[in-house]
Amino acid sequence: MLEATGVSRGVLSDRLKWLQKIGCLRKESKGAGQSGGAYHLTKKSLALHASAMMAIEWERKYYRTPDLDSVRLLHMGCGKVFSPIMLCDHCEQPVSGRDVAFTPGPGATRDHREKKVRRRSSISAAAVPSPRSVYRNLVNIVGDRWTANVIALAYHGHARFDQFHQELPVATNILSDRLKFLEQQGIFGSRAYQQRPRRFEYYLTEKGWDLFPYFLTLLQWGDRWCDPDQRGAPMLVTHNPCKERLFGRVSCDQCGEALEPFTVTIDLR
Ligand SMILES: [Zn+2]
Ligand SMILES: [Zn+2]
Repeated sequence: MLEATGVSRGVLSDRLKWLQKIGCLRKESKGAGQSGGAYHLTKKSLALHASAMMAIEWERKYYRTPDLDSVRLLHMGCGKVFSPIMLCDHCEQPVSGRDVAFTPGPGATRDHREKKVRRRSSISAAAVPSPRSVYRNLVNIVGDRWTANVIALAYHGHARFDQFHQELPVATNILSDRLKFLEQQGIFGSRAYQQRPRRFEYYLTEKGWDLFPYFLTLLQWGDRWCDPDQRGAPMLVTHNPCKERLFGRVSCDQCGEALEPFTVTIDLR
């Protein structure tokens, strides 16, 4: 893990501890007096496989490099090289962020986070050592809590600085900085909606809309694994074409089957 991530020993050990604490990793127990032992995924972290699939798909679509192009995903279910796609579990149509509606669910609450939060250092894509690292660009974009929140709000139709600011406990200079960053990354475009003074609103580009399935996998994962008090989903998503509550099923584009973690192999050749 040290080799693949390029982080310091201290940071890695800290994160491994944290992942065990939140139930995403389990350390194999060795006999008394023996040190070491491998880390294993748990049901909770295996359920993030769907997110990983959508992340790889997005990354490969927008950051084409010979290294990424040589990564092949094999579905053991049908024996074919495939691309992951997200289908509505009810009507089996591909999921697009443009075709959904949101309503507050039983677990909806206000965001009471403190305004002053330490900025998490973001990793630059170039700092991740593995040339085949299949998430490096995505991590660079959504690894920051504000950019992830701003993108999520854009799916709800927020477009203007004040609208984002009203929803998020973020300082104005940090918000401007993140909006600029998202524009530079091609996730947002902008247009002036007022001339004096000149003000801009932001809209999602195709690249930004294409991130929606990834975000939905995280929402679904949170609903299932991060609701200790059983309050229910904080937000309900409806699939407009079939009018049913949306559950996005990450599937094989060759055979249509749902992708289970142990039925996919990543072939690095
Ligand atoms: Zn549907
Ligand atoms: Zn298949």
